[in-house]
Amino acid sequence: MTGKLEQLGHWIGGRRIAGRSGRSLPVYNPALGVATTEVALATADETRAAIASARDALPGWAATPALRRARVLFRFRDLIERHGDELAAILTREHGKVLSDARGEVTRGLEIVEFACGIPQLLKGEYSDAVGSGIDSWSLRQPVGVCAGITPFNFPAMVPMWMFPVAIACGNTFVLKPSEKDPGCPLRLAELLAEAGAPAGVLNVVNGDRDAVDTLLTDPGVEAVSFVGSTPVAEHVYRTGSEHGKRVQALGGAKNHMVVMPDADVAVAAHALAGAAYGSAGERCMAISCAVAVGDAGDRLIEALKPELAAIRVLPGTADGADMGPLVTREHLERVLSYVDAGVKEGAQLVVDGRGFTVPGHERGFFMGPVLFDRVTPAMRIWREEIFGPVLIVVRVPTLDAALELIASHEFGNGTAIFTRDGGTAREFTRRVSAGMVGINVPIPVPMAFHSFGGWKRSLFGPLHMHGPDGVRFYTRLKTVTARWPEGSKGAEFTMPTMK
Ligand code: NAD
Repeated sequence: MTGKLEQLGHWIGGRRIAGRSGRSLPVYNPALGVATTEVALATADETRAAIASARDALPGWAATPALRRARVLFRFRDLIERHGDELAAILTREHGKVLSDARGEVTRGLEIVEFACGIPQLLKGEYSDAVGSGIDSWSLRQPVGVCAGITPFNFPAMVPMWMFPVAIACGNTFVLKPSEKDPGCPLRLAELLAEAGAPAGVLNVVNGDRDAVDTLLTDPGVEAVSFVGSTPVAEHVYRTGSEHGKRVQALGGAKNHMVVMPDADVAVAAHALAGAAYGSAGERCMAISCAVAVGDAGDRLIEALKPELAAIRVLPGTADGADMGPLVTREHLERVLSYVDAGVKEGAQLVVDGRGFTVPGHERGFFMGPVLFDRVTPAMRIWREEIFGPVLIVVRVPTLDAALELIASHEFGNGTAIFTRDGGTAREFTRRVSAGMVGINVPIPVPMAFHSFGGWKRSLFGPLHMHGPDGVRFYTRLKTVTARWPEGSKGAEFTMPTMK
């Protein structure tokens, strides 16, 4: 605790609430390496107050026609657009990513709100006329109740917007527990949603750590939990939430492989890799962290990557022309640097070393330069584990089959990509690869708002992906009605009714 800085509290019942726990953490400006605010850490009681606020708002909001809920989201959409620069500035200040990237993040979140504006269409059920004599049947989707969202530091605007706009469009109310590392944007989004006309309690934001999360996972007032973060925490969230009778979707970590075939345009592949590996300092769940060079593509790829890395401008996110900013915290920077040391120790070939890097005038900032390793093997920790920093590793394999086996043997299966000029190779890769999101000559294949986002294996716990059609499925319960008109009874029936 610094004691002197402004403290960000919570958003409960339509207003800002100061934290009362006496516990807080500093929130850094990573480019400066200094704390600029601090964030309150909620107690279980403060978290329960947010759940109670969401429960109070639920009956009225669930009964509000979908068309009217959509109108609130249309206004929210306009407010996000109008405040886009302000939101991006908060993102850059607290996360460190460059301003243009922060603006892109806000836009990807906005697109989910646009998707959610179509909720009257999305909630339309199915109808079967005359399933029996005088009997019709239809299905409808109803809100599940109070939903909770727990989100990571790396997309403090977009990932919360993967969740709450769809959830509230469906008629639920929501408690968001954002990352304690960059809580500014989620609080501002809650204010904007209120300005758009959402009644108090429809969206609540409670800042905190494990105490708040565990309260959300165990409190009987919460019906559904969406989580995005690292795999150990995703597993904890999935287990604990499920044990307490909630539906849970928990997205975890990643190690995304991009296969470069010998027939690929290596210059194009290297260009794509530079953005996909080092954009947002590699702190993206869809970042490419492993390039898989097939056949003789390896040497050409490494040669093409060297000038790409040399051209990356590592600067504070607010600087003109910055390509890559700092890492989020000193602790995370040190963790990523320790992986570089581990890779060297394990015998990988360090082609570009980003250690010992400083930005003049920002010596305390959490900066490092881009790192490139060649000749990495599956036995090495830098292949097995998620580094989540600006470190690209290259694994060389002889064939497409070997590339597919390598990807299949990794515990994660979030995104993947192939660069090739051959349609048949791309098709085979797409069908056989064990990952949830696949790019063909597209390095970061993040599904658009109207499709759903999710990985395979230990990158996602639970059956449903996020936003898009799966989002609507997750945030609604299906009800199927069978009705007989006109009224009348043929007397008691003791056998299964069937159509003759
Ligand atoms: P994290 O798991 O440390 O934190 C995520 C959330 O969980 C935060 O709100 C945090 O406060 C909370 N939390 C942390 N430890 C907890 C604990 N022990 N018990 C209960 N709650 C806890 O993740 P992070 O460092 O904020 O984010 C980076 C991770 O998120 C990476 O692993 C990245 O791959 C992953 N991620 C995945 C996706 C995806 O779509 N699969 C998207 C973005 C980020």
